[in-house]
Amino acid sequence: MFDALADRLESAWKKLRGQDKISEANIKEALREVRRALLEADANLQVVKEFVSEVEKKALGAEVIAGVRPDQQFIKIVHDELVEVMGEANVPLAHADTAPTIVLMAGLQGTGKTTASAKLALHLRKLERSCMLVATDVYRPAAIDQLLALGQQINIPVFEMGSDADPVEIARQGVERARAEGVDTVIIDTAGRLQIDQDMMAELARIKETVQPNETLLVVDAMTGQEAATLTRTFHDQIGITGAILTKMDGDSRGGAALSVRQISGQPIKFIGVGEKVEALQPFYPDRMASRILGMGDVLTLVEKAQEEVDLADAEKMQEKILTAKFDFTDFLKQMRLLKNMGSLGGLLKMIPGMGKISGEQLEQGEAQLKRAESMINSMTMEERRDPDLLSGSPSRRRRVARGSGYTESDVGKLVSDFQRMRSMMQQMGQGNFPGMPGMGMP
Ligand code: GDP
Repeated sequence: MFDALADRLESAWKKLRGQDKISEANIKEALREVRRALLEADANLQVVKEFVSEVEKKALGAEVIAGVRPDQQFIKIVHDELVEVMGEANVPLAHADTAPTIVLMAGLQGTGKTTASAKLALHLRKLERSCMLVATDVYRPAAIDQLLALGQQINIPVFEMGSDADPVEIARQGVERARAEGVDTVIIDTAGRLQIDQDMMAELARIKETVQPNETLLVVDAMTGQEAATLTRTFHDQIGITGAILTKMDGDSRGGAALSVRQISGQPIKFIGVGEKVEALQPFYPDRMASRILGMGDVLTLVEKAQEEVDLADAEKMQEKILTAKFDFTDFLKQMRLLKNMGSLGGLLKMIPGMGKISGEQLEQGEAQLKRAESMINSMTMEERRDPDLLSGSPSRRRRVARGSGYTESDVGKLVSDFQRMRSMMQQMGQGNFPGMPGMGMP
C-alpha cells in the first residue's frame, strides 16, 4: 500500500539532492510533488492544501543541520507534519471508571463495522477486559447473524432481540444487560446504509442520546480515499465522534483517508483493520503510519541521530579539511568513532533509502575493514596520522605499523593508498566533481 505516494515523494527528494540548503526556489518543485502525491493518494484537497502550506512554512524556517542533506531534512519535516496531522501518539480506547465502558460503532454499510466490532472485542479481551456485543442492525437480518457467528467464533456473548425490535431499545437493554453481568465493555454495532441518509443519522443520534457512550467510533474504509473526508465531517457534525477505526489497510488503499480523519474531526484514528480475520486489528500509531506513507527506510532516525551527534563547528572544520585535502588519519579515526556512536555501520546503512539491499555479508566485510583500518591507524605515530604521505614514502615505517597492528606491510600499504585515493576523490567532490561513488573497499 501507499506505493504511489512513496514514489512521488522520492522523486521530490531527488530534485533537492545536491542543493546545499532549503530555499524558496528549490523547495517549490518538491512541495508540488508532495501536493500531487497526496492528491493522488486520494487525500482531500483542503486537507492537502493546509498540509503543504504548513510544510512550506516549516521547511523555510528550518535551520541547516550539519551532516544532513537538505532533501533528508525535507523528508523529516514532511514526516513530522504527517505525524502531527494524524495525531502525534496512539490514543487508546477509553476505559470508564464504572463498568461498562460503552462503545458505539458507526459507519456506512460494507466498511467493516461488524467485523471491527468483533475485532475490538477480541483485542480488549486480550487486555483482560471482558466484552459484550450488541446487534442493533435490524434492517439486514444477515447482519445479526453475522455478529452472532463472529461472537461464537471468538467466544464473546452477543446481545440481540431479533429484527422486529427497535434499535434504540436493543441498545438500551444491551447496555443494561452488560451492566447487570459486570461486563467491562459493551460494543454496539449499528446499522449502516450504502449512503448517508437522514433516517440513519437520526436513529444513530437517538441511540447515542439513550446510551451515552464513552466512545463513538466511526468506521472508515481506507479504500474510500477522498470520501473519508465528507463522511467524517457529516458524522462528526451530526453525531459527534470520539475516534475512528480505519479498515482495509491491508488492501491497496492509497492512504489519503488516514490524513483526513483527524484533520477534519480533530479526533484520532484509534485502530486500523489489516485483514478479514478477527485478529487483524492493530492500534494506530501516527509515526509508524507516517513512515509507512513515506516508505523511505528510516531516514528520519538518521537525521535525528545526526542532529544529536554532529557538532556543527566540528562538521564545518571537517568539511574545510576535506576541501583543502588536509583530511588525515586523525580525522578519519574521529569520523569512524562518530559512526560507531551512531550505531553499527549496518544499522546506519539500513536507514539510508536504497541501501537496505546491501547483504549481511557485505556489511560484515565493511565493518571488518573499518576495524582493521582502526587498528592500523592506532599503531601509527601522531606524525604519520597527520601526514599519511610519510608512510607511502617509507617501507620501514609501514613495517613498524604492520608489526604493531598484527597485519602485513602490504596491508598497511593498501590502507594508505586507499586513503589517499579516497581523499583525492573527496576533494574533487568538494569542488563539484563526482567521480563516481567510492566502493565499500575504501580503506
Ligand atoms: P459492515 O457492513 O460495515 O458491518 O461490514 P462487514 O464487517 O460486514 O465487512 C464487509 C466486508 O469487508 C467483509 O467481507 C469483511 O470481511 C471485509 N473486511 C472488514 N474489515 C476488513 C479489513 O480490515 N481488511 C479486509 N481486507 N477486509 C475487511
